[in-house]
Amino acid sequence: MNHLRLPLHRAIVVVGILSALLRVDQILAQQPSADATNLKLIQQLANHKKVQSAFTIIDALEPQTLRDHIYLAEIPAPPFKETVRAAAYKKLLEEAGADDVSIDSVGNVLAWRKGTIGKKTIALDAHLDTVFPEGTDVTVKHRGDTLLAPGICDDTRGLAVVLTILRALEKAQIETKENLLIIGSVVEEGAGDLRGVKALFRNPAIKIDSWISVDGGGGSIGDIVNAGTGSIRYKVIVRGPGGHSWASFGLGNPHHLLARAVHYFDEAANVYTASGLKTSYNVGRIGGGTSVNSIPFESWMEVDMRSEDPQRLNEINEIFLKSVEHARVEYNAQTQSKSPALTVDVQRIGYRPSGTTPADQPLVKQSLAAAAHFGAPLSLHFESTNSNIPISLGIPAVTLNLGGQGGNPHALSEWWVNDRGAEGIKMILLVVLAQAGM
Ligand SMILES: [Zn+2]
Repeated sequence: MNHLRLPLHRAIVVVGILSALLRVDQILAQQPSADATNLKLIQQLANHKKVQSAFTIIDALEPQTLRDHIYLAEIPAPPFKETVRAAAYKKLLEEAGADDVSIDSVGNVLAWRKGTIGKKTIALDAHLDTVFPEGTDVTVKHRGDTLLAPGICDDTRGLAVVLTILRALEKAQIETKENLLIIGSVVEEGAGDLRGVKALFRNPAIKIDSWISVDGGGGSIGDIVNAGTGSIRYKVIVRGPGGHSWASFGLGNPHHLLARAVHYFDEAANVYTASGLKTSYNVGRIGGGTSVNSIPFESWMEVDMRSEDPQRLNEINEIFLKSVEHARVEYNAQTQSKSPALTVDVQRIGYRPSGTTPADQPLVKQSLAAAAHFGAPLSLHFESTNSNIPISLGIPAVTLNLGGQGGNPHALSEWWVNDRGAEGIKMILLVVLAQAGM
């Protein structure tokens, strides 16, 4: 009996069922859980006398953590304009007892806490900047227990969390084996393209072995980011002589060429993104031209492409570049008898590499175990954060949650409430200690 010889329609049903089962399998495989070895390690750390004392200190520091949080939130810090907040944060880290605090060439605050062995360096990062431009009212308003202010979660709470961890380590007299490098990083948000963290990894004087960012918009402490969504951004500018729409008719029209490029890109990218790991593309802004009866001398657009997978990010990038080039060649060939060729200037204005810290990497396992220790539901995520850079360099990195509850990040209505916020701080402390040893 040849059970493989099925009528075509039945074969399709079987294939359908098999692939559905496969998808369920994949989903189940992605549901993370804490493993026994790391749960035991975290349990042992949590039971340590000094760590118990650090936990008590973190609870006692709650009003202080809140004061730091509000104080920092009320210092405006748009990307590239973090200087005042950086100076304030530096002072707080010094007062908290860091060994050596400095500000590097791009404005990152770097605070060292030396380990007893100090062969490795564990980075603990929160970003100084917020998405809000200069002039935004950043006064923190209180509505019951809820704090409202632009940037109150993302990432001012992260700064306060890291500061409290340092205070707790100092007050509980915990010596770690490895070095801790506490970072208040600049330009995580917006068009800054992770300038702060990129500069750190270019600095030959600093070698980072693992990386923990504290960032996000509030939520469960079991939401662990172990993968970075990569992005590539372009500004494309098409230029030509420009002229009167009637008198100079026939001259190359930059808008027409640009529109053709968008059409070819959308057509091909739509097919490409219809299957496979999530990959996105977006023409976000378009501009140029002077009046309805003028052939524009310039036409421009800004484009954003993202993917969870580095290979797919490269592939959609190729599709984009080919589409623009195709439009340029084709359009200029069409108008060549009447017009000088239009020029196309393709400027890459952003690049965040993507990648994943594997789920079986100790840093990820320890993060899951630390969240499980507090009974939090566990999940692993893709997100675009400072961790993108170490992940792309093969350095284990995770982004951990801020603790507490929050919402509306990047909106003027951003809020945060201290709902079991101390638990989030303790969880990150456990991950730091698992990494740095004691
Ligand atoms: Zn953030």
